[in-house]
Amino acid sequence: MKKIGLLGGMSWESTVVYYQQLNRIVRERLGGLHSADLLLWSFDFAEIEHYQSQADWDGVTTLMIDAARKLERGGAQCLVICTNTMHKTAPDVQASIDIPLLHIADASAPAIKEAGSVSPLLLATGYTMEQDFYKGYLQERHGIDVQIPDKDSRSVVHNIIYEELCRGIILPESKQRYLDVVSRSNADGVIFGCTEVGLLLSPDDLSLPAFDTTMLHAKAAIDFALQ
Ligand code: GLU
Repeated sequence: MKKIGLLGGMSWESTVVYYQQLNRIVRERLGGLHSADLLLWSFDFAEIEHYQSQADWDGVTTLMIDAARKLERGGAQCLVICTNTMHKTAPDVQASIDIPLLHIADASAPAIKEAGSVSPLLLATGYTMEQDFYKGYLQERHGIDVQIPDKDSRSVVHNIIYEELCRGIILPESKQRYLDVVSRSNADGVIFGCTEVGLLLSPDDLSLPAFDTTMLHAKAAIDFALQ
């Protein structure tokens, strides 16, 4: 089994889910006392969020590269960035290390295609919904035409992520607001494009196919580690 390097803590509320899921999948596949072989670098998310809100992407990329190199030097054989948003830095991080970065969009695209969804709705941070690094990646590499909510809905989705989900606050009224955003769209699927969305919504809450990027990314990491 290969050693997985995780860049996590963004936020730790979803890194916990990655950690559990990675270990559970290894136990399911190998049985007995087997568990995932991994290293976790967990950032102080307040620091990361400060860089994001200041739009200092160069500054935060430097932190990501530094941590990724340390994981590589520690023996990691692949890198998993445990957040969709911070995949904005993925090209620079990949260019700075010799191990493969397992991109969250590559991990998610096969499930989206398998379900026959060609125009899924993206529920994510404002950065991920509004910038091109994620939607553009899914479009160019995978031919998936991602939709985003309207402006007001985007701020609802974004604020619930930073003010509630990343702080461990899970409210039924926020879940309803997400469901309302989905019901106003004409999408044929829903991408949980923020690793905390699965803390609020379950695929069972939706009549459309749902794609939880946290779960799909964890599965792809174990597929790599065990191949
Ligand atoms: N975990 C979230 C994501 O998947 C948001 C927090 C962050 O900005 O990294 O985008």
